[in-house]
Amino acid sequence: MSSYISLPMFGANIGERLRLEAARCRSCATPIYPQRPQCPGCGASEFDIEALSGEGELYTYTVIARGGAPAEFDDQQTMTGSIVVGVVELREGPRIMAQIADSEPESLTIGMPVRAEVRRLYDQEGVVRYGTKFVPVPD
Ligand SMILES: [Zn+2]
Repeated sequence: MSSYISLPMFGANIGERLRLEAARCRSCATPIYPQRPQCPGCGASEFDIEALSGEGELYTYTVIARGGAPAEFDDQQTMTGSIVVGVVELREGPRIMAQIADSEPESLTIGMPVRAEVRRLYDQEGVVRYGTKFVPVPD
């Protein structure tokens, strides 16, 4: 599996990626993220775009050891040895898979509060890609 995203695609959904914009279903009010053409709850296709808070709880996570991540992350893995990928359940309900930054894997606990930050993801073809990572919320 690769996290490669072509440049036109990256530009097209940059608001969704960087501002955590969800689609709220107009008929059943389910917040949908990532956005989809149809509501998974009721099948409707009319939505209002709304920004998510970016605040949530760590639902689950996994540590990817050196060499186990897509090639784009090689630079980062060389520096840090391993990366943590987690699933965050946002306050509004959607679950997002993203890297968990600024934390040692040993310090993570399920249910801990985290928030989204826009971080540099990786360089590819001379372009720095940005995306959402989650960091622990200090006590
Ligand atoms: Zn719906």
